Amino acid sequence: MSETIALPVLGYNKTNGVQTFEEWAVSGTGTPSNDNWNMFVGWESVRPRLSPSMFGTLQDCLMKFMLRHRYQLKQKGYSSARETGTIGHAIIGSLHDGVGVSEALNAGRKATAKLLKDIAAEPDCRKSKEELEKSLLGDFALASVVAQLFWEKYKLPENFKTVATEVEVNMDLPGLATSLKCIMDRLMYDTQEKELWVADIKITGDDPVKFHSTAPFDPQTRMYRLAALAYLQSGKATVTTTLNGETVHAPLPKDTPVVGMVYEAIQRPTIRQKQKQSSEEWLAEAKSWYEGTHPTSTAGGPAAMPEPYWHRYEEPVLAYEFQVHLREADAACSGATRVHKFTRTKNTFLCRGGPGRAPCEFLPLCSARSPAEWAHIIPRLYVRDTAKSIELEIN
Ligand code: SF4
Repeated sequence: MSETIALPVLGYNKTNGVQTFEEWAVSGTGTPSNDNWNMFVGWESVRPRLSPSMFGTLQDCLMKFMLRHRYQLKQKGYSSARETGTIGHAIIGSLHDGVGVSEALNAGRKATAKLLKDIAAEPDCRKSKEELEKSLLGDFALASVVAQLFWEKYKLPENFKTVATEVEVNMDLPGLATSLKCIMDRLMYDTQEKELWVADIKITGDDPVKFHSTAPFDPQTRMYRLAALAYLQSGKATVTTTLNGETVHAPLPKDTPVVGMVYEAIQRPTIRQKQKQSSEEWLAEAKSWYEGTHPTSTAGGPAAMPEPYWHRYEEPVLAYEFQVHLREADAACSGATRVHKFTRTKNTFLCRGGPGRAPCEFLPLCSARSPAEWAHIIPRLYVRDTAKSIELEIN
C-alpha cells in the first residue's frame, strides 16, 4: 500500500532546513554581495555570439554553458580527441581547397606545430614539451590517415564546385539580442541543379551513422542554412570555372537556393601508430581497420567511415521548433549570470563520463565543497580562452 506523507513546513534551520543563498554560497567563508556567479569566478561574464555547438552544451548543463561560454573557461592542457579533430579539419579542409595530399599534410603539420606552441605556453602546462610533442605527433598520425583514407574513398560528384572553405558568417536576427556565429567547413555549388550545399566534417569517437538520424532537427543543420543564406546575401559567394581556357570567378546569384547539408562523419580509429612503424605501414593498418580486416581490432569496419550523408532541407528556414531553441539560447547568452538561473545538471551521468567518454572538464568546480573554493581551483586547472568572439561585457 502506498501512502503520501505530508511534510511539515520546513522551519529555518542551519543544518537541515531551508537554506538561504548566503549559506549555500559561502559555507561560512566571505560575504556575497549579490547573487551573480561573477563573484565566484572572479571576473564579469561576457555575452558570446551563439554558435551551433553551444545548443548542445546548453541542453546538457546550464552550469557548463555558463562556465565555458559566459566565463570562457577552458581546461588547461591537452586533449587527444580535441587536437586530433583540429588537425584532421586542417588536412581535410586543405584537400577540399583543391591542394594535393602532400600540401594538405603540411597544413596538418602546421596546425600540429601551432597546438604545440599554444598548449606549451599555457601557464602550469602539466606535460613537458617532449611529452606534448610525442602526444601531438600521435594525433597527427591518426588525423592524417583518417583524412587520406576519407579523401581516397569519397570524391565530390563532377558537377560540384567548392565555393569556399572555413567560411565564418556573423548574423543578427530580428528579435534576438544575441548575434549568431557560424563557421561552415565548406560551401559547395551544384553547377547542374544550380543549388548550394553546406558540408560539415566530423571526426568522432561515436558511431558516425548516428549523426545521420538526427540531421533533420540538429540545430547545427538549421543554423548552417541561415549562414549560407546570409553569405549569399553578402555577395561574397563566387564559383570558379574555366571559360575558353581562362579561370573565371563568377558571383553566385543572391537567390541561389540553399538546399541541404552534407555530413561527412568519420569515426577515429581505436588503434594508434606503433613505434618504428613507417607512415606507409600505419596507413595500410588503418585502412584494414576501416575495411574490417584488421587482425586484432574488431572495433572498425565500413560503418566507421560511411558514405557522406546528404540531407535535403524540407522545413521552413525558421521552423517553429528552431525559433523556440533560438529564444532559449538567446536568454542564456544575454541575461545576467544569476546563481538561480545557471545550475548544475540534473543528469549527473554527463558529469562522470563513462566508457570511452571523459568526465566533464568542470567536475573539479562542481564537486567543490563550496563555490567559495573556486578562487583557488580556477587558476590551477583552467585558462580563460579569450579567443572566442565577445559581443560586449555585462554586469
Ligand atoms: S560537472 Fe556536471 S554539473 Fe558541472 S558543469 Fe559539468 S556537466 Fe555540469
